[in-house]
Amino acid sequence: MTIHVRTATLAALRSFAAPAHCPHCGDLMVAPLMSEFVEGGEIRHHWECDACGELSHTSIPLAAH
Ligand SMILES: [Zn+2]
Repeated sequence: MTIHVRTATLAALRSFAAPAHCPHCGDLMVAPLMSEFVEGGEIRHHWECDACGELSHTSIPLAAH
């Protein structure tokens, strides 16, 4: 049972880190440089673009379940 719960949690967390496009050059960024929980209920991913080297971030609000 515990294994199933953990698997579901990992899959859910991974889905938050969806690939994003660089706002500067439009290149696809697959893996966030860093992810953090922000107080108030959102996950913020920090990205560094491989193509142009610019930093950006995306914020994903956590839906209230
Ligand atoms: Zn870029």
